[in-house]
Amino acid sequence: MKIDWFVACKVAYPRPGQQGTGLWPASVAHAKRLGGTSAACGELTTTMKKLFEVPFPFAGENCRACLVAVSEERRARTQGARHVAVREGSA
Ligand SMILES: [Zn+2]
Repeated sequence: MKIDWFVACKVAYPRPGQQGTGLWPASVAHAKRLGGTSAACGELTTTMKKLFEVPFPFAGENCRACLVAVSEERRARTQGARHVAVREGSA
């Protein structure tokens, strides 16, 4: 599965998982995408740990502003895709 938004957080700890030991958030999780230096909420992620293997939101405390930004972005993308499909079908 492709992860579009992964977790960035200030503190992380190693946790054994299905694919071996990986990092797991130990502080509020922000949503981060590849490229750029800020989270979905606008907070700088340059000093945060990037948990590329952990999709946002994770099963813990997530940044509220990031949750809003990510859900809006996902909704806009789905609507955009549907829009294109309708236009192609009617052509
Ligand atoms: Zn955030």
